[in-house]
Amino acid sequence: MQLIDCPWCGEREEAEFHYGGQAHVAHPEDPHALDDEQWAQYVFFRDNPKGPFAERWTHSAGCRRWFNALRDTVTHEFLAVYRVGDPPPPLIRTAPGAQPRQDPEATS
Ligand SMILES: [Zn+2]
Repeated sequence: MQLIDCPWCGEREEAEFHYGGQAHVAHPEDPHALDDEQWAQYVFFRDNPKGPFAERWTHSAGCRRWFNALRDTVTHEFLAVYRVGDPPPPLIRTAPGAQPRQDPEATS
């Protein structure tokens, strides 16, 4: 079983966590200005990269807090975890054949 490093509790078994989707998806500044296609793009469409990907996770069977993780979608390895509001860490490495990716919302 894989261990996930909760930023508050430390390493716990993956069964204690739930996936929450792509991280750093910004809510539109003026939702009423969006047409249906733009709204659908915001609500339903997410990136699906092969390699490092910033995701939201919750420690649902532990502290119940949300955090972000940089996870390699090829190997399922957690490359880094960080608290909500913190910028994603720089990419450390990528899986063979994976495309390095940084979140456009990321600030360093
Ligand atoms: Zn926790």
